[in-house]
Order: sequence, then C-alpha cells, then structure tokens
Amino acid sequence: MAKEPQGRRPTRRSWAEPWKVKVVEPIKMLSPAERERAIAEAGYNTFLLRSEDVYIDLLTDSGTSAMSDWQWAGMMMGDEAYAGSRNFYHLEAAIREHYGYRYVVPTHQGRGAENLLSRILIEPGDFVPGNMYFTTTRLHQELAGGTFVDVIVPEAHDPADESPFKGNVDLEALEALIRKVGADRIPYVCIAGTVNMAGGQPMSMANARAVRELTARHGIRVMLDATRAVENAYFIQQREPGYRDKPVAEILREYCSCTDGCTMSGKKDALVNIGGWLAVNERELYEEASNLVVVYEGLHTYGGMAGRDMEAMARGIVESVDDDHIHARVGQVEYLGHKLIDLGVPVVRPIGGHAVYLDARAFYPQIRQDDFPAQTLAASLYADSGVRAMERGIVSAGRDAETGEHHYPALELVRLTIPRRVYTQAHMDLTAESVAAVFDARESARGLKMTYEPKYLRFFQARFEPL
Ligand SMILES: *Cc1c(COP(=O)(O)O)cnc(C)c1O
Repeated sequence: MAKEPQGRRPTRRSWAEPWKVKVVEPIKMLSPAERERAIAEAGYNTFLLRSEDVYIDLLTDSGTSAMSDWQWAGMMMGDEAYAGSRNFYHLEAAIREHYGYRYVVPTHQGRGAENLLSRILIEPGDFVPGNMYFTTTRLHQELAGGTFVDVIVPEAHDPADESPFKGNVDLEALEALIRKVGADRIPYVCIAGTVNMAGGQPMSMANARAVRELTARHGIRVMLDATRAVENAYFIQQREPGYRDKPVAEILREYCSCTDGCTMSGKKDALVNIGGWLAVNERELYEEASNLVVVYEGLHTYGGMAGRDMEAMARGIVESVDDDHIHARVGQVEYLGHKLIDLGVPVVRPIGGHAVYLDARAFYPQIRQDDFPAQTLAASLYADSGVRAMERGIVSAGRDAETGEHHYPALELVRLTIPRRVYTQAHMDLTAESVAAVFDARESARGLKMTYEPKYLRFFQARFEPL
C-alpha cells in the first residue's frame, strides 16, 4: 500500500457550489436588546418577526431560493397573455420531461394544487393515507370531508433512528387500513418524498414500487406530493443499491412513474419564489381540474401565475435536476447537520434534505410538551443571534378536528431550513455556534403559554408569553 502523504496536505478534497455570486443583498444583526424586543413584540412566534430584523433566515426553504441568471433572463421573456401564454407551454414541457406526467394545471403554489385535488377526489367519509401529514395537505383533505391516516414507518417517529429511508410507507399499516375501511373509501394514497414533518427523510424506490403494487391490486390511485422529490431522488442515488451511477433526473422520472399524478410546490425544489402545479395522467381528472382551477386560481394556462413566473419555474425545474446542483444543495444541509452533531447538539438523524431539525425534547427535557418546548427553542435561538428557525412540534400539529384536543406529535422539533443557493459556509458556521450557545444555556429555559390561537394552521399566527 502507498504511504499516506506526509505533512498538512488533506487526503480528502473539498467540493464547492457549482455557481458564483453575482448580486448581493445586505443583511444585518440587531443588538441583543433589539432582538429581545423584536421577539417579544412578535409574541415569541418567529413567523411574526419582520424579516428586516432577521440576520440569517432559516424559517423555510419555501420561495426563498436564489434564482440563476438564466431564470432571471427568462423573467424578461414573460408572455403575459391571459390565455395560452408560451411560458405555460415551456412549463408543461419541462414537467412532462422531468416528472413524466401527461397533463399539467398550474397553480399559485402547492396548496392551490392540494385544494383542487382534494375537492376532485375526496368524498365526505373518505380516508386518505399518507407517509406522515403535512399541514396544508391534511387541512385540504379534511376540508373536503376526508380523514388523514398516518401510515409512515414507525422509525420516522424516533429522532435517533439512523435508518436510511425513514420516509417509507408502512405497507402493513396501509394494507390494514384498506382491509378495515375498504378500498372504495380510499380515493388515493398520498405519498411524499422527502417527508418534511419527519425531518426531510426520504422514501426508497423499492418502497414507492411496493406502494404502487399494493394499491394497484385494490384499484387505488397514488398521488405524490412532489415538493422535494428531486431531493428524494438524490438520496435514492446516494443510499439505495443500484442507483449510484444513475443521474438524479433519471431517478426522479422512475420515482414519479410509481404514481398517478402529483401536487407540487415549485417554491421548494423548483427554485422559484412563487408557483406550483397539479399534474395527472388521467384525461378525465385533468378535465375536472382544468375546470375547477378557473374558480380558485385562474385560467388553466396560468393558474394564478404571471407568464414570467411560469418561465422562471420551467427553467428552475431544469436546473433543479442537475446532479452538481442537488449535491451542493443537500451537501450544505449535511455540513450544518454534522457540525451540530460534532458540537453534541441533539438533532434528527440522519440529516434530512432541506433542513436540520433540532430535537427540542432532548434539548429541554424539563419543559412539558404543553408548554411548547420547540416554540421556546426557536424564540431563544433568535434572541441569541438573529437566526430565525421554525417550530415543528405541538403548535404545528394543531388540534384534533373532532375532539378539539391538541395533537401530541412524537416529534417536537425546531427546523433550521436552508434556502437554496443563498447562504455561505460562514453563515452555517455562525448558525451552528449560536445553536451550541443556546444548548449550553438549556437548563434555564422555562417554556411558553399560548395567548392567541387562530382556528386554522395556528402555527403561522399564534402568540405566546414566557411562563
Ligand atoms: C410547502 C409544502 C406544501 C405546500 O406548498 P405551498 O407552496 O407552501 O402552498 C405541501 N407539501 C409539502 C411537503 C411542503 O413542504
């Protein structure tokens, strides 16, 4: 064997982002006293902070990505015709090529597509199984009269479990539900990869295929929440035997081919600030959707988007499936995650695709879930450094539609969500140092009391006071 090289030369070569910066946007950190005042005025809810008062904004990766020069050039090519804009046809072509579905209905963002799909397919009394809930997805299913049933694998609920595909569907749980309520009470199975609420965890191709087989036997459709399907395809490439040498673009198409259609928030994978779509393979469903979209979004060739926005999304889709892009995107998230692990901070493992999730239960064992440990942690992090994160625990889980009680999710998390192509490694370092400082001060934390609670999606606008 060759001898290891002597001296300070590293044996592992670093990689870097496949882009350079052309435009910058100044940000500034407020003083500690100003941050304390800002978070108190925001009712200890990071959604209610002014973005100007935030230093590093890790609230969400939704609509916060940086567009490329090619996308911005496309914005100048907007065809703002009311009907039949050329940008719609570019978008349709990009979705057909990279996701593989036949028919496309644009919507203003993901929840617009969820609304259409839920209204078309769900009848009151139906059940919609899914691999963990997502806030807007479940709400639209419920508003249409359906009941969401979680059929994710049990390890998804354990932040310390290192399984590579914690987003998988528990096939036995799905089969048991079909047996219990009957296939005709299940309009579709809603799968998502990666699974946002489980910590950005992927589902495997083998599992997607198995879901396809099981549902086909019962004549049940599979609809994909494709919001982060590109990131999911990257994890399949990295972790699933047989995919290492396949391009992410090819894996994405194979993954989508296990489903009958998708809802999509273009604000995530597709690298735009606004936009989404519903895509289906069945002509009849398409006709219903393109009729209904006129009521809620706009004509079926713009669906609530400007022509320029559709062009930016069409180009964003092309960029999103580039292997170098997706490697750098997920690589930055993993960089922050492993830095926190090295500092001894409890995080959800393995590190997810779009965010690092702090385990607020392990952070603050002294705070009961009723006193909102994750909400407390997000507020403390902002006060420490102006880094804005998001609660993903009991506040996000909301109340049971029937009993009115809190849902008590097993995971009580704070999400540090990384926008695409926006922050540098130094921003990640500062974030990790701030989380470590809050962790070191964990014993003095005491929890919060909710003083205002909106009826729908309460996490957006709820207000709190320190206990
Ligand atoms: C963001 C998101 C949605 C909803 O999309 P919007 O564009 O915010 O309306 C649906 N599903 C998942 C998994 C998401 O992350």
